[in-house]
Amino acid sequence: MSNIRLASDILFDSVVDGNGLRMVMFTQGCTHNCSECHNAKSHDLNGGKLVLLNDVFKEIDKGLYHSGITLSGGEPFLQALQCNEIAIYAKSKNLNVWVYTGFLFEDLLKKDVSLKLLNNIDVLVDGKFDKSLKSLNCKFKGSTNQRIIDVKKSIEFNKIELLDF
Ligand code: SF4
Repeated sequence: MSNIRLASDILFDSVVDGNGLRMVMFTQGCTHNCSECHNAKSHDLNGGKLVLLNDVFKEIDKGLYHSGITLSGGEPFLQALQCNEIAIYAKSKNLNVWVYTGFLFEDLLKKDVSLKLLNNIDVLVDGKFDKSLKSLNCKFKGSTNQRIIDVKKSIEFNKIELLDF
C-alpha cells in the first residue's frame, strides 16, 4: 500500500473545495453513479494514475501555506487506507482535512477501515450528488441533501453535528 490511484494532478490554491485555501486530491474510482456527476472521468477503478504516497507527501510539503487538504473524487473511501496515510501526514503538518464522499456518515462508521480514516479528518461532506436538489446556494457542496459534518464532534457526541457555511 505504497501508492494511491489519483484522477489528476494535485490541485493547489482551491477556494471551492472546503473552507480556506486548499490542496485537493481527486482520487480515482467511484461506484456511486450520481446522475450528472461533476467528474465522470474519475469513475473507472483502473483509470487515472498510480502515485507513490511519498510523492503525494512531497507535494503536500510544497503547499504548507494552505489551510488544509481536501480528498475528493472519485470516492476517497474506496482507498481509505491510502487516504488515511495522507490524512495522517497532513495533520502532522498542521493542515486540516476535508473529505467528500458519496457514502453516508452513518454507514462509514460501521466499517473499521472507514472509521480509521474518519478518525483523522475534520470535515466530511457526505451523500450522493442529487441533481434534483442542486442549488447555487449550496456552499462547498453540490446538492441540498449533502451534509457538511464536523466529524470530531459527531464522533465524540455520538450524533451528527453539522457545519453551516
Ligand atoms: S460520488 Fe462524486 S464522483 Fe462519484 S458519481 Fe457521485 S458525484 Fe461523481
